[in-house]
Amino acid sequence: MSGIEQFPRRCWAEIDLAALERNLIAIKAALPEHIRYIAIVKADAYGHGMHQTVARLMQAGIDMFGVANVAEAATIREIGGSGWSILVLGATLREEAQFLFEYDLMPTLSSVEEIEFLENMAAERGEVLKVHLKIDTGMGRLGIWHENADLLFDALRSAKHLKLDGVYTHFAHAETDVEFTERQRRRFMTALANVDWLNPKELLIHADNSAGLTSFSCESAYNAVRVGLLQFGITPYAQSLFAKVPTTPIFSFKTRISLVKELPAGTEISYGRTYRLKRPSRVAILCAGYGDGIPRTLSNKGFALIQGQRCPYLGRVTMDQTIVDVTDLEHAPASGEEVCLIGTQGDGEIKIEQFARWAGTISWEILCSITKRVPRTYKTSIATG
Ligand SMILES: *Cc1c(COP(=O)(O)O)cnc(C)c1O
Repeated sequence: MSGIEQFPRRCWAEIDLAALERNLIAIKAALPEHIRYIAIVKADAYGHGMHQTVARLMQAGIDMFGVANVAEAATIREIGGSGWSILVLGATLREEAQFLFEYDLMPTLSSVEEIEFLENMAAERGEVLKVHLKIDTGMGRLGIWHENADLLFDALRSAKHLKLDGVYTHFAHAETDVEFTERQRRRFMTALANVDWLNPKELLIHADNSAGLTSFSCESAYNAVRVGLLQFGITPYAQSLFAKVPTTPIFSFKTRISLVKELPAGTEISYGRTYRLKRPSRVAILCAGYGDGIPRTLSNKGFALIQGQRCPYLGRVTMDQTIVDVTDLEHAPASGEEVCLIGTQGDGEIKIEQFARWAGTISWEILCSITKRVPRTYKTSIATG
């Protein structure tokens, strides 16, 4: 053995690929049959690991992948070969454009300049490139502003080497703002309706991310969804809205206790002396800190599961270690004992949504912040039930 595999694990992530597959099946079952499923796997599949996640999703019946850039898309090509449609969600830099052709990728286009640049490139190469146009209906990020959408469609129509494969928009606040999301939907549909030569039946028309699905309507022209977070079993904010889609978390974050010790009342814990023990206490030192992805903003705020019980973080989270209060546990824990930072242990559970809220951030960022030091391990049993 070489590399880090020969050493006992100090902090690791466990990813249940069978649960990923079950989640996918549950989400698809909640949508009408004709709706295509674009699996969003940007940022190393939300920190779950691109290779394993993508390979499992390929078996599990998705229709298309969405990634942030051409490098991520190339990784999918290497895993799955040709045949999978891949949409690049980010804008493509000019130096990246050749890879769209080499790897057979679909870019997202937001401007007439992008269309002209790629049309020239495609003509020079004697190739045709499939593309998606994006309309900005109120996110203020990529896409052409909806009132100007006809400019984009006109430019595309005269670009003979670009083939329109889809049109989409992105929601800014679908988690909680139903009214604004409806306005975005209306703007999108109006922009589409204004283009008389468009045949929506021959295109992918998509808007919904995980949160959008709460207000998804099958009556409209949509025939695809772009799902990231929800397939990993995590619900964006408004949990109750997803009750009808029974997904389960697939990601756990674990560490071990390196040392247990007793300290007198009045001891100040960790850097900056931000916590002072109110009573004689037993503390456990964990083998994980912000160098592994426990946010420093969890200092004095977080909880870890030991023996299925929530034990509060004491003082600052440090780079490699975090200190927790284990005074109230029925049995004194031993060094080496397993600790659950995110996930379930016995009767206890810490959901990533909760962990993120304690840290003052969102689940997406937590997943992207689990560092390279943390090996991802996989459960790969087949999906049943
Ligand atoms: C990341 C992303 C998604 C997926 O969003 P979730 O909230 O994780 O489901 C969909 N569309 C675009 C354009 C994205 O960038």
